[in-house]
Amino acid sequence: MRIEADLKLGFKDVLIRPKRSTLGSRSQVSLERTFKFRHSQKTWTGIPIMAANMDSVGTFAMAAALAELGLFTAARKHYAPEEWDAFVASAPDPRWLAHVAVSTGILDSDLAKLDRILERHPGLAFICMDVANGYSEYFVERIAKVRARHPERVIMAGNVVTGEMVEQLLLSGADIVKVGIGPGSVCTTRVKTGVGYPQLSAIIECADAAHGLSGQIISDGGCTCAGDVAKAFGAGADFVMLGGMLAGHDEGGGEMLERDGQKFVRFYGMSSRTAMEKYSGGVAEYRASEGKTVTVPYRGPVAETVKDILGGLRSACTYVGASQLKELTKRTTFVRVAEQHNPVFDP
Ligand code: 5GP
Repeated sequence: MRIEADLKLGFKDVLIRPKRSTLGSRSQVSLERTFKFRHSQKTWTGIPIMAANMDSVGTFAMAAALAELGLFTAARKHYAPEEWDAFVASAPDPRWLAHVAVSTGILDSDLAKLDRILERHPGLAFICMDVANGYSEYFVERIAKVRARHPERVIMAGNVVTGEMVEQLLLSGADIVKVGIGPGSVCTTRVKTGVGYPQLSAIIECADAAHGLSGQIISDGGCTCAGDVAKAFGAGADFVMLGGMLAGHDEGGGEMLERDGQKFVRFYGMSSRTAMEKYSGGVAEYRASEGKTVTVPYRGPVAETVKDILGGLRSACTYVGASQLKELTKRTTFVRVAEQHNPVFDP
């Protein structure tokens, strides 16, 4: 046994220190970024915020809405090839397809389905290889296999939380590594297993490793408000993935409930009992569910929420004098804090 004694930090442990700036207004801030990916050599331009590949978040309706706003969606993996056909046929322009990833697990059947979808739709440029624990040798082999079969597609893969594993996944064929173990809003990994890594430190360490190899990272999980999204970018994330913050909207198509005249939407982790019963016929004997099922207030169309998040992010850039999102991390100094917001009027 060994203890690493230096304290690792989460979003709640820091604030971004304001800096003198010449920027007049937040309307001068550009949130678009352009990336060139290390293996596929593809270029992408957009606002690097993405919907998580979860039920009632990573839907086709979400992909359509977010693509229109310049954002990205990792589609939930349970869509059938025929459903992809319909989505692609309904896309009014190539932008929709450039702002969505086909998600996959790593079983033979998952990869066969992935091939079927990609063969039919060369315009789908992104693959999201998603496993709860990105540390297995087998996952690394599977990334190499998908890279060999699809040299021209952009592969995002995860999840991991440490620099050496980011390097391993990038060297094995991933263009972008997804970072986060345990911070998610409906994730119970940390309580069920004791395993995890505070998200802000994970971003800082993994971004450093990835950028050294011309790779990118996605900060996945743990953002509770626009300020956390700003902190994730400030820490060095190239993309930020959101589940809970994008749940509860029309585009998610989740189950609606009504309580005391108020509308709610059901939202659950993809390793929760709810998800396992839906897709795997129950929770297998040898494993525990590592996700929960919650209800979130119904929030209408997602465009309003996105406007709020982008407004907060532009404002954060203005406070530190970053005229483009790209500059935010260079201009960020975090201060460690023992308080965040004033709770006096909290319900
Ligand atoms: P959020 O933005 O809601 O805080 O986090 C979203 C992320 O939580 C997802 O992208 C995914 O990485 C993770 N996640 C989703 N469902 C589960 C689950 O059932 N268990 C765990 N451990 N993580 C989950």
